[in-house]
Amino acid sequence: MIKTPRGTKDILPSEIHKWQYLEQAIKKVTNLFSYQELRTPIFEHLEVFSRSIGEQTDIVNKEMYVFEKMTNADSNKKQELFALRPEMTAALVRSAIEHNLSAQGQIQRLWYYGPFFRYERPQAGRYRQFHQFGAECLATPSPTADIEVINLAIRLIQELGINKYELLINSLGNKESRANYRKTLQSYLMDNIDNLSVTSKERADKNPLRVLDSKDKEDQEIIANAPKIKGSLDQESQDHISNVLETLDSLGVNYTVDEKLVRGLDYYSHTVFELRSTELGSQDSFGGGGRYNELFSQLGGKDVPAVGFAMGIERLIMILEKLDKFKQDDSYKGIYLVNACKEKPALIEKTLQKLRNKGLQATSDVLDRSLKAQFKDSGKRMSKWTIVIGDDELATEQYQIKNMESGEQIKVSFAELDSFEF
Ligand code: AMP
Repeated sequence: MIKTPRGTKDILPSEIHKWQYLEQAIKKVTNLFSYQELRTPIFEHLEVFSRSIGEQTDIVNKEMYVFEKMTNADSNKKQELFALRPEMTAALVRSAIEHNLSAQGQIQRLWYYGPFFRYERPQAGRYRQFHQFGAECLATPSPTADIEVINLAIRLIQELGINKYELLINSLGNKESRANYRKTLQSYLMDNIDNLSVTSKERADKNPLRVLDSKDKEDQEIIANAPKIKGSLDQESQDHISNVLETLDSLGVNYTVDEKLVRGLDYYSHTVFELRSTELGSQDSFGGGGRYNELFSQLGGKDVPAVGFAMGIERLIMILEKLDKFKQDDSYKGIYLVNACKEKPALIEKTLQKLRNKGLQATSDVLDRSLKAQFKDSGKRMSKWTIVIGDDELATEQYQIKNMESGEQIKVSFAELDSFEF
């Protein structure tokens, strides 16, 4: 038997209601905030991600699905490298630059939903193909936009009925502040290099901020005593984060400032945030995001400041399952047409069509089964109505309609079907 590749899974009809429930909530909330959907290909030129996420990150270093193809560009055979998208922000910025979505500083409020791919070690809540929903506000440096996307994220969480979650927040400052901090932190880490874990030793040299992400026990004491980014923030950076935090205070949003929060990817600046839930195991983060003022120029566009976040759908589903939020819809619905004639009369298909034209869910047997089996099938499907068409019904031009909930049976003439209240 051929199975799904490790770290991927089928979403079966028995669980699709969970996904559709989430998708509906996403559509509702993005609409409330006036965000528009953007869909991009699931693969991009490799450089979209390697130039933006950072060469020294796990995503680019170890986790990307990269494939090559020969192309005939300019009649010269050329090898091109593509990658399955590991995240959306870089792809979305590529698209915004390509289609000039933020021409003349035009604000764009965009959302997306779809599959993403990372070659990670699969475990509960961690897959190789997973799904994200995200929202991004382009072409504004204002802390108001940071608040808007955080609010959108919180609104969705509330809409789904998740009351217990943690919002962690930090500032990485502007480019200059971050460069200053990088130096300060790197020199501190170099002083303590002998006591760092192997991974952190490497990161201390190439990407010191990522050391703060380390979960390694050996590193914890060194991280706890490391200089904090706050000390390196210039006035502009301080003002930005103060504004965000004060607004969150005034809105009554609970948050924790976590000075170790750096969010792995290279492109973040100023505000970064993460959403965590105690309902999840070791993979307790179900969303995160931040501001990325330099990403557009990094990908060859003009400077366009922007901010956004992504949430993991599988992890949201895990939380909602723990909270027992998915109630199976066990209501009676739909109409089942039972064929009681020897041959299936054309009237069955015609009636199905009529009912569907009225916007009613209607189905019938496609296996030429016995009357008994058809009634059983109708019951299994929790049909609200069963319509029987047999020789008698054809002769008298009347349907026999049974309400499966109450058991009541009535005869309705063919002509009156249109006006019958199902
Ligand atoms: P990131 O793009 O790494 O900031 O991830 C944003 C969110 O996507 C996380 O908080 C997770 O909920 C989800 N996520 C990221 N990677 C995976 C994965 N491999 N499997 C399942 N969910 C993931």
